[in-house]
Amino acid sequence: MKCAPFEYVRPTSVDDVLAALAEADGEGKILAGGQSLVPVMALRMARPAVLVDVNRVDGLSALDHAGGNVHVGALVRHQALAAQTLHPLLAEAARHIGHTAVRTRGTAGGSIAHADPAAELPVVAVATGATVTVAGPQGDRWVAAEDLFAGPLMTTLDPGEMVTGVDFPVPTRWGFAEFARRHGDFALVTVVVAEVGGEVRTAVGGVGPVPVRARATRPEELADELSPTGDLHGTADFRRGVAVEMARRAFASAGIREAA
Ligand SMILES: Cc1cc2nc3c(=O)[nH]c(=O)nc-3n(C[C@H](O)[C@H](O)[C@H](O)COP(=O)(O)OP(=O)(O)OC[C@H]3O[C@@H](n4cnc5c(N)ncnc54)[C@H](O)[C@@H]3O)c2cc1C
Repeated sequence: MKCAPFEYVRPTSVDDVLAALAEADGEGKILAGGQSLVPVMALRMARPAVLVDVNRVDGLSALDHAGGNVHVGALVRHQALAAQTLHPLLAEAARHIGHTAVRTRGTAGGSIAHADPAAELPVVAVATGATVTVAGPQGDRWVAAEDLFAGPLMTTLDPGEMVTGVDFPVPTRWGFAEFARRHGDFALVTVVVAEVGGEVRTAVGGVGPVPVRARATRPEELADELSPTGDLHGTADFRRGVAVEMARRAFASAGIREAA
């Protein structure tokens, strides 16, 4: 199938992106790496009247240290995240995203805004307590990752807003484990454990509509906290069991026996 007809604009500043979105009056969509948006447009599951291509916007590709955090501009590609050494947890997570072609085009801002419950970066964002910078008609606002994800492929972003970057705290210790049926597939379950500011935080992806911030202090206790649903990949119990095993691995690789 082909995409439905759309108008295409390619602004070079955030202000012009916001102006184009405002003019589209709810019918506009940002195009970043296109790895998620273009397939759904081709299936006509998304039919934006205006496509606002942000790939030429200046200043959104920064990747640097900023006061204990690593700032990741919205246009930083997964490949660049995988290659950097400032935030080893982010690098490990990015290496697990899709295949080389997907990582070459897909962006951090796109992954966060797309809010796929199986995606890796949203889980890292929730586990580390990341802050998302959102530009909108009223200026910038800063949203805790936990408050951004509202459901599968749903966020609290307004249609006229844009993610410009994410600040990820750098954990002192961390563990990452995911289970996917085949290399490059979306994960069935991802567990991230991160020690940030002395607190051990755990987030689990693939077991609910959004990344779940788990309160369990030991992997074995995690099962009681999760309410996954069964689907074509397996039963709810299967997913729960995989989550506990991934948590064991993530805790072990972090060198953490128990979250305090
Ligand atoms: C074969 C395949 C395998 C994949 N496997 C994985 C995987 O294992 N793990 C994983 O996490 N992902 C996977 N992906 C998805 C990939 O990571 C995408 O790159 C990502 O989900 C979206 O990023 P993008 O830059 O391509 O965004 P786009 O596709 O351009 O946009 C996605 C959505 O986000 C919106 N958007 C984009 N940027 C912004 C912004 N700055 N502000 C506000 N809204 C914005 C768009 O309007 C759109 O609604 C896979 C994709 C494919 C095709």
